[in-house]
Amino acid sequence: MKNWGYKISKPRGIDLDTANIKEFDKLAEKVPSAKRCLMCGACSATCSATNHTDFNFRKCHLMFRRGQFENISEELDKCMLCGKCKLVCPRGVNTRAIIYNMRIFLNNMDYKNI
Ligand code: SF4
Ligand code: SF4
Repeated sequence: MKNWGYKISKPRGIDLDTANIKEFDKLAEKVPSAKRCLMCGACSATCSATNHTDFNFRKCHLMFRRGQFENISEELDKCMLCGKCKLVCPRGVNTRAIIYNMRIFLNNMDYKNI
């Protein structure tokens, strides 16, 4: 293997053979703005739930994109769907709708337009 001068840490690696990375595309059909997220973190910086718990929307969103659904259900339950994050997003991402639809997926239901 070529030495690039760095290694990818194991816990952050994604096994593309097993990861369900297509699920995010399905969610993005209902919430197209999800694809505009550049993971800047402004949403998490303003989130009341993040201020009082270890909840982090940006992290949950990234995990969902990567098809790593383990443990995010419990995290998403900490969100109050207040919409504050949506107001500060510089890319106009409908964060509430993403959270809502991630919850829907994790509860084996069909995605919704909200
Ligand atoms: S503020 Fe918007 S662009 Fe930035 S991480 Fe949050 S959703 Fe993504
Ligand atoms: S909708 Fe959820 S993630 Fe967004 S600011 Fe409110 S509690 Fe935080």
